[in-house]
Amino acid sequence: MEKFTIRVNPGSCTGCLLCQLACSEHYTGSFNPSAARVQVDVSGIDCSIRFTEECNGCGVCVDYCFYEALRKEAVG
Ligand code: SF4
Ligand code: SF4
Repeated sequence: MEKFTIRVNPGSCTGCLLCQLACSEHYTGSFNPSAARVQVDVSGIDCSIRFTEECNGCGVCVDYCFYEALRKEAVG
């Protein structure tokens, strides 16, 4: 199994919220950004990204971030 940690680069985040849509769909079956285990806050041109305590690091959200604001970094 692929082992990785998730690296975050808020400076590359566009605020598209695809990560939140992907996570919520994967774990709740519906597109509900507020239910996602990753939360992106957009303030002007700045984005902050945080993971909730429920996040298990599965990486689904990373696969839908097309701007490299979320990246998988191999471990080991
Ligand atoms: S790593 Fe998995 S559980 Fe955590 S926010 Fe991303 S999709 Fe959700
Ligand atoms: S982290 Fe990636 S997928 Fe999530 S809002 Fe930012 S650019 Fe979009």
